[in-house]
Amino acid sequence: MNTSRPLAILGCSSESCSARYPIEERIYLCRQCGELLDVDYDWRSEPAADVKQRFLNRRTSGRAEDRSGVWRYRELLPFIEDSAKIVTLGEGNTPIYEASRSAEYSGLDSIRLKHQGMNPTGSFKDNGMTAGVSQANVLGATAVACASTGNTSASMAAYAARANMRAYVFIPAGHVASGKLSQALDYGATVIEIEGSFDDAMRIVRELALETDLYLLNSMNPFRLEGQKAIIIEMMEQLGWLAPDWIIVPGGNLGNTSAFGKALKELHDLGFIGRIPRLAVIQAEGASPFFSLFNSSDRSRLISNPHPSTLATAIRIGNPVSWKKALRTLALTDGVVERVTEDEIADAKAVIGRDGIGCEPASAATVAGVKKLTSSGKIGRDDSVVCVLTGNLLKDPDYTVDYHKGALKFDDGAGERLVPGSFRNLPVHAAADKQAIRNKLGI
Ligand SMILES: *Cc1c(COP(=O)(O)O)cnc(C)c1O
Repeated sequence: MNTSRPLAILGCSSESCSARYPIEERIYLCRQCGELLDVDYDWRSEPAADVKQRFLNRRTSGRAEDRSGVWRYRELLPFIEDSAKIVTLGEGNTPIYEASRSAEYSGLDSIRLKHQGMNPTGSFKDNGMTAGVSQANVLGATAVACASTGNTSASMAAYAARANMRAYVFIPAGHVASGKLSQALDYGATVIEIEGSFDDAMRIVRELALETDLYLLNSMNPFRLEGQKAIIIEMMEQLGWLAPDWIIVPGGNLGNTSAFGKALKELHDLGFIGRIPRLAVIQAEGASPFFSLFNSSDRSRLISNPHPSTLATAIRIGNPVSWKKALRTLALTDGVVERVTEDEIADAKAVIGRDGIGCEPASAATVAGVKKLTSSGKIGRDDSVVCVLTGNLLKDPDYTVDYHKGALKFDDGAGERLVPGSFRNLPVHAAADKQAIRNKLGI
């Protein structure tokens, strides 16, 4: 039995700052240096094999915290003392698929897709939100808030509703996919559509969290990243605790990139995995400040993009909050950053669809990125590669229908143009006449 719990504290993420804060404190940035915080632990030593067996045994349990694909791994995110405070929708538990068409398209012998879009609200944000809202519950928060490109708001609205908290979501007007907006409205959140970008919404909600009692649930909240670590933990468990050569993830605000690095470091330090895989972060060309930073000679200052543009709205972010933590992940994993065009994202998405899997546009940046990285020789044909599909196909149905009808338009600032679409699948229009349909289809 796991009785004594490791001590969790909030530590400054800056290497040059040693500030520490109790986890009961409502604080998002270090008071001494202004940097982001990490949840740090005083790990209790226990053989990894024993803990792995416990993870496995919980799969036959009926308890909510054992069935959750986040809290099942609670030894690795031990910040909740009272399990009655946990707010869960049974998140995680997402499948990992072999995808032969995506492999061939991206120049690999095989590829695996871990589909975080199979979460309760359809994106990986649920992995983080169960942790963030549970901590809000511990702190006695009655109202929570976030800025969002869509999925954070959908997820936060659901978990807040479960916990009887009020939810305020700030979104960029006109730039949130309809599936996501419909969720936030249905789950009862107050939705504030801001005339501006995600980054404007982020700035406003950060200020509001300091001035009011709204508890902030963006990915700068370190408890959310603890939950997102479970994406990697579950992936490694599914792979028999054998790390792949590469993990590929889309990069927006870079919370996931940051959480993945922390998970990999802890799993390696604690003896759960024998080696650390390489991580590739993929951005959309029109919203790629982190790509520019990573490939510049001076990585000490991110130059933000005030006008990010991509149809992959989940990663339409010009000023990513977690860029310093993300750099830490890339250093740890010997990682790379790549960027892909709208056409590449759109075609990769259609190929993932043809595998019978499907995802939202931002997620498809991963397969598009792998194709680029195999072409340039960075990834080898026989490397083992896992792409993290971040959101469900049904989040952004307009994009998909427009693509297949040849009506997907993108304005890169130089004027609107059509995305060509190499894998269109047009509906067939027919009269309500069986024989005419047979003739037309040749069946
Ligand atoms: C939030 C989100 C991203 C971006 O993740 P970050 O952690 O902000 O980098 C990518 N894809 C989808 C579908 C998302 O919802």
